[in-house]
Amino acid sequence: LPRAMDLEVVTVGTELLLGFTLDSNTADIGRGLAPIGARVVRGSTVVDDPVAIRSAVSEGLRRTGFVIVTGGLGPTRDDLTKRAVAEIFNAPLELDEDYLAVLRERFSRLGRGPMPESNRTQAEMPAGSTVLPNRRGTAPGLWLEGEPGTAVLLPGIPREMVGILEREVVPRIRDRLAVGDSAALVIESRTLRTTGVSESGLADGLEPAVGQLDRVSLAYLTSVFGVDLRLTAWQLAPVEAEAALGAAVERILPCLGRDYYGTGDIDLAAVVLEGLRGQGLRLATAESCTGGLVGARLTAIPGSSDVFAGGLVSYSNESKIRDLRVSELAIRQHGAVSEPVAQQMVEGVCHRFGTETGIAVTGVAGPGGGSPDKPAGTVWLAARVGEARRSLERWFPGGREAVRQRSAQAALDLVRRLQAE
Ligand code: AMP
Ligand code: MG
Repeated sequence: LPRAMDLEVVTVGTELLLGFTLDSNTADIGRGLAPIGARVVRGSTVVDDPVAIRSAVSEGLRRTGFVIVTGGLGPTRDDLTKRAVAEIFNAPLELDEDYLAVLRERFSRLGRGPMPESNRTQAEMPAGSTVLPNRRGTAPGLWLEGEPGTAVLLPGIPREMVGILEREVVPRIRDRLAVGDSAALVIESRTLRTTGVSESGLADGLEPAVGQLDRVSLAYLTSVFGVDLRLTAWQLAPVEAEAALGAAVERILPCLGRDYYGTGDIDLAAVVLEGLRGQGLRLATAESCTGGLVGARLTAIPGSSDVFAGGLVSYSNESKIRDLRVSELAIRQHGAVSEPVAQQMVEGVCHRFGTETGIAVTGVAGPGGGSPDKPAGTVWLAARVGEARRSLERWFPGGREAVRQRSAQAALDLVRRLQAE
């Protein structure tokens, strides 16, 4: 039977904890190992300090017997990982003549003179370790195995780390997990995207299905785009993972109704374009507070030109009146952020671009500009698909950027829901 494996990740770098660099390595390792069933159960980050590195790695080894460490492998003074981990394994550092020759060769090939002596430490390897070649840089990875367990050391630079992970680490772990002919286990995820519904609203609707999920876990991932449902099958044989995920999706989809719009990382803009394309409709956008975000989302999708006719960023009252034929009276009586103005913006932009489908957004993005009856985050949306028309008022939480992103998503969603009716 194939075996499953749990491991820990330790990322080393003061910059990660000072907040200058976001840790992408833990995420890349988690994603890279899931397909072979190796589960990252803990990630910790430590400063460039030998004591901190040694204790984080020792603890991880004590808990799981397998730790991947990234960072602190370069030739500069802050790079201490190799020494700290070698101590855990009681392995003295020895000059690896083969690797020294590789380094010298690389320097002469670059034609930048002789190799600086600081690079020499890169050729010192813990006794008994295996060098994992780095095709994208100078610091190789290292694989140490001994009484404390297995430690894999990788450089911090994400591109180099991923290169060694894929070429050297994944195959070795896969070999370790596969026994005989049986395939390794996998950790596999599926994402179902929803929008226009709150996390708690979704959870209520999913109540009946959640209890019936078999060998699949469910997570709610909330963002300005809505709530994604991530289903994960943990450490199952590939066929079983497929079957378990398929069954889970069948249970859950009926509970989502029209709030569900797609799987994986699909953008709602692509769903809208596809729907309109199927009906032979063309779309125009009139945007105030989103300043072109809806148009940017639509044009980011390849092949959008057959559906998206164009858009207007109409920010001032004068532009709304002049370019979109919004009545001055409507603005004076109801304000620029109002239902009549949103409705007139849609009609104006459809007329202007000669389309049957339109989207309009007008709102108070904040942080200023709000009033008691229209606080920051108040947005009016209007859409038209052929002869079907709808307008909607929303109050979005968050700062200016969040309100703008939520508004663009809600505007696209209004068209999606309208076109399905
Ligand atoms: P190092 O191997 O410690 O010399 O790391 C080299 C560079 O890689 C650092 O200066 C960071 O910019 C980057 N880096 C290190 N660790 C990470 C990490 N966990 N996630 C993203 N970037 C990192
Ligand atoms: Mg570093």
